[in-house]
Amino acid sequence: MSSIADNIARIEKGLKQENGYQARLIAVTKTKPESLLLEAYEAGCKRFGENKVQEMVGKYEALPKDIEWHMIGHLQSNKVKYMAPFVSLIHSIDSFKLLKEVNKEAAKNNRVIDCLLQIFIASEETKFGLSPEEAEEILTAPELTSLQNIRIAGLMGMASNTENEEVIRAEFRGLKTLFESFKKFSSDQVQMRELSMGMSGDYLIAVEEGSTLVRVGSAIFGSR
Ligand SMILES: *Cc1c(COP(=O)(O)O)cnc(C)c1O
Repeated sequence: MSSIADNIARIEKGLKQENGYQARLIAVTKTKPESLLLEAYEAGCKRFGENKVQEMVGKYEALPKDIEWHMIGHLQSNKVKYMAPFVSLIHSIDSFKLLKEVNKEAAKNNRVIDCLLQIFIASEETKFGLSPEEAEEILTAPELTSLQNIRIAGLMGMASNTENEEVIRAEFRGLKTLFESFKKFSSDQVQMRELSMGMSGDYLIAVEEGSTLVRVGSAIFGSR
């Protein structure tokens, strides 16, 4: 079995091979103990993704302070306050209400918190996310300009859980097209810079299709 350090080195190498793309690796550390996070940290990976607020807060408190923490899971408004002091990027905004809550808690901490709109791109019924129309409604809402403590920094999506590479590629390509088309809404609150797509099984396809952030868990730490 290869070590965490070997896995990170292999993945980083794969990301660099794609000329012109600058995808960064987020190690998805949900359910993993702090000892394994430290192993990844010592191998040079300082960007971690968690899907539960409480778990992320506990790990944040225990681990070195130069780690970037990414919230990648479905988020309830009442949990935002616990991570507002330190979260680096929230990938999973799926309503205007949630965005307003993030703005409120960011303001209390004198911060501007970067957020991604999570877009539903898969063919499965179970995944969270906005439709392209719902995302456009958020990006064009007059009220958005009053949210001075958030920035919509891009989009996130999860492809279908399938072996069919063409299906996955088409979903990622569609998200990239949407991302480019949303650049016309650029403002103080909207700056389409990050495209978070790609997980252990499909990150190389995602990078080819223009991902800037891949979220990889089991390919680093083994299965959960
Ligand atoms: C768990 C998770 C991942 C990582 O999945 P792996 O298949 O283990 O790489 C990526 N993104 C989200 C939103 C997740 O919940």
